[in-house]
Amino acid sequence: MTEKIYDKDPYLTEFSATVTGCFINADATFDITLDRTAFFPNEGGQSCDKGTLNGLDVLNVELKDDDIVHVVKVYIPEGTTVECMIDWEHRFSNMQMHTGEHIFSGLVHSKFGFDNVGFHLSDNSATMDYNGKLSESEIHELEALANEVIWSNRKVRTFFPDESELETLDYRSKSGIKGAVRLVEIEGVDLCACCAPHVALTGEIGLIKIVSWESYKGGTRLNYLCGMRALADYSRLFTLESELSKLLNASKGDIFGAVEKVKTDLSDLEFKAVGLKRDKISEACYVLKKPILFMEGDNADLLRFAVSELKSRFNGAVAAFAGDDETGYRFILECDSHGLEKLFDDFKFEFDVKGGGRSGSYMGNVEGKQEDIVTFLESDKTFMI
Ligand SMILES: [Zn+2]
Repeated sequence: MTEKIYDKDPYLTEFSATVTGCFINADATFDITLDRTAFFPNEGGQSCDKGTLNGLDVLNVELKDDDIVHVVKVYIPEGTTVECMIDWEHRFSNMQMHTGEHIFSGLVHSKFGFDNVGFHLSDNSATMDYNGKLSESEIHELEALANEVIWSNRKVRTFFPDESELETLDYRSKSGIKGAVRLVEIEGVDLCACCAPHVALTGEIGLIKIVSWESYKGGTRLNYLCGMRALADYSRLFTLESELSKLLNASKGDIFGAVEKVKTDLSDLEFKAVGLKRDKISEACYVLKKPILFMEGDNADLLRFAVSELKSRFNGAVAAFAGDDETGYRFILECDSHGLEKLFDDFKFEFDVKGGGRSGSYMGNVEGKQEDIVTFLESDKTFMI
């Protein structure tokens, strides 16, 4: 059974230990067990510590039965004394995040009676799940209260009560806890069974920020950040704001107004662009000898406009196509004076056509070359004007 140094001293980052076992894995890595370790394994929804063992990167740390297994790439014989080092920045970040979760979950429990039914803490994300619905205003209120607890710099005490003491205590518990119960008490706020390393004073957490939330399995899932991770996210947002400010040529306080102006300008330009495109279609229709128009793009409204322009200039059947030879054309075939059933059947026979219609109005998509489509239409008696 490995002695867990982090149970009593989560701040110890360098330690010596003796190898008690070394077993090769299928992927040629080695599982090393030690008589004692400060490496926290993957446990309770939290990912494991990082660090080195005799200078070798520890690739993973797993709990196997009562032992903690350290995965490295090199064989180390049993009985060897190894010098170990915990990646403190990574550990401390996890301690901040984890203790922040205790505070928030304790407040959720005391104010709303909901339990923390899920916890996930990896290097990239952290979520807390509760078995009750929390509204946006309730989440903001809890966040403010949790930060008050952090800034009041309360003591965080970890202890193993004996069975008789445990019976007298009212504590939050997560399912699946085996063996001696380790309790984590945040003075005046929370008492919870937990196996992970925590900070000694809540002030070390710095701050907690809920960054998103969603309904989850009938309750609420929250994404959150504490301490160093919250600072990193603030720096990311600060950079984003600076870049946006430069891009929009606006002061940071005017970014919202500048984006509104860009949206309005874009809308005006789109309106003008549509007007110009309509003018171009009208001009193109004016010089046509046959009522067959090909245009670029895939805009259904402009295609419909082209048909109305063709009809205003020609009697009988008209045909408008939007697209190109490579990707195909959207088309409309129309005639106000007679049916186009035969023309459409022949068109389908000659080309790969998807679409339909009835009597004097057909539309759809066609694959083919402009030249071939024009030749086909001009050879049909409908367009032999
Ligand atoms: Zn904990």
